[in-house]
Amino acid sequence: VTLKPELASIRTDLGVLVGAEYVLAGAECRAYETDWTASRGLRGKPDAVTFPGSSEEVRQLVEWSSDRGVPLVPRGGGTGLAGGAVPVGGGVVVCLERLDQIIEFSPDQWRLTVGAGVTTHTVKRLARENGLLFPPDPGAAEQSQIGGNTATNAGGPHAFKYGGTGAWVTGLEAVVVPGEIIRVGGAQRKDVGGYDIKSLLVGSEGTLALITEVTLRLLPAPEAVVPLVMFFADTKAATESIRDIIASGIEPAALDYLDARTLELLKRSYPGDVPPDAMFALVSELDGSSDQVADSTSELRELVSPSAVAIDSPSATDLWRWRDGVGNVVAAVRGGKVSEDIVVPPDRLAEAVDEVVKIGRTADLEACSWGHAGDGNMHASFLVDPDDEAMMARAEQASQQLFDLAIALGGSITGEHGVGYLKAGQLERQWDPAALDLHERIKKDFDPAGVLNPGKKVARMSAGPKSGQVTRPSAAS
Ligand SMILES: Cc1cc2nc3c(=O)[nH]c(=O)nc-3n(C[C@H](O)[C@H](O)[C@H](O)COP(=O)(O)OP(=O)(O)OC[C@H]3O[C@@H](n4cnc5c(N)ncnc54)[C@H](O)[C@@H]3O)c2cc1C
Repeated sequence: VTLKPELASIRTDLGVLVGAEYVLAGAECRAYETDWTASRGLRGKPDAVTFPGSSEEVRQLVEWSSDRGVPLVPRGGGTGLAGGAVPVGGGVVVCLERLDQIIEFSPDQWRLTVGAGVTTHTVKRLARENGLLFPPDPGAAEQSQIGGNTATNAGGPHAFKYGGTGAWVTGLEAVVVPGEIIRVGGAQRKDVGGYDIKSLLVGSEGTLALITEVTLRLLPAPEAVVPLVMFFADTKAATESIRDIIASGIEPAALDYLDARTLELLKRSYPGDVPPDAMFALVSELDGSSDQVADSTSELRELVSPSAVAIDSPSATDLWRWRDGVGNVVAAVRGGKVSEDIVVPPDRLAEAVDEVVKIGRTADLEACSWGHAGDGNMHASFLVDPDDEAMMARAEQASQQLFDLAIALGGSITGEHGVGYLKAGQLERQWDPAALDLHERIKKDFDPAGVLNPGKKVARMSAGPKSGQVTRPSAAS
């Protein structure tokens, strides 16, 4: 399609590219003003929302956006927790949900290529139904898409053993500025040709390219899976056990934790009995062959028994349903939560767990944390009333101290949710100036006009969305 300059409105332009029925404008765009970060007040007004139906249509959109200087904001399932899909500076939200084809599935080769809009749940189900495993398991799998998982390099509890989404991506098709389709990697399982552009696009949060297709490697599903929940009387006993578990080489598939306050809140819904003196819980899962799992289960029990107050083994389904509910239960106490997914070296977790509560106390906020203990990845949270502006301001301020804490302990501002908009500029605290420069130069090389998801994943505070590097269009008619 060659755009004619006389095509005046964005809506008309987009209608030509993807079909008028796949373009929303004005009040129809409301649902796309925000994502899962709505509770933190993050919203933006898109000039239009569009639903391309093929890689070629995405290519044309990027070409159009580059010609016109109109920002594009890629959107998968909208479940991101860093505001990456929120059109904070306007522009066109590009929803990838119509790229939902299973492009190639070779169960015997443990390989799957899907459109970016296929949901995480569908990928996991397809794998499971064919005796295979796709290990990444970020929450909200029913809504999140494989393109979004790749763009955020999403993790989840099983990343402890299996790594995040990027560890399972062998190839990508993506559209880059000024409107070219590129393929990096593919079905091959090894590839050291060129710089690792595939890995650069993994976790790039829609700021370097729009991902249109993803090739994944899968694994044969483990024969046996045994969950174990270990309860402790205090943080010290629990975190020492985490160190012992890691040192033992047992390698659980997942090793999550709930601190004292989180456990207190989750007690009632636990599918079993929580001992009255339990002040910390470790949630683990062992997988492998039946023999291996039987051995490692007894090893783990033996290792932890002297310091745990109880060890329980509910069904995996009940356990993960309970564990997945943590965020909602915590948010329900006061109506909301301000949560950051900081990460520290696992052997500094004890200090970090205590510090989170102290930071909250200083800010007159109730605080708690839970998360992926084996990876040192915490969901450090302040319980807030979203209608209380002063409280929200204190929580956002206290979040800055969470970032300071992570960096002071040798960790990072984000372990799996990404920088998005909420953490834009925070890398400045963490990286050397030369690394920040490199980060900015990569962005400039991929996207000189700054049209791809402007204001997101920026390294420096000064490079936020108000920097004026993109031409904002007027609202579509
Ligand atoms: C209840 C809940 C639990 C969660 N648990 C976890 C967890 O355990 N671990 C974890 O890592 N995360 C977790 N998350 C957040 C996680 O990042 C998302 O669930 C998921 O990875 C985002 O996918 P999405 O399709 O919803 O992407 P979106 O939210 O739509 O987008 C996320 C980012 O990716 C970009 N993007 C999306 N699709 C594309 C594409 N095709 N091409 C280029 N850029 C794109 C967007 O611009 C944005 O910057 C959780 C979220 C919720 C709501």
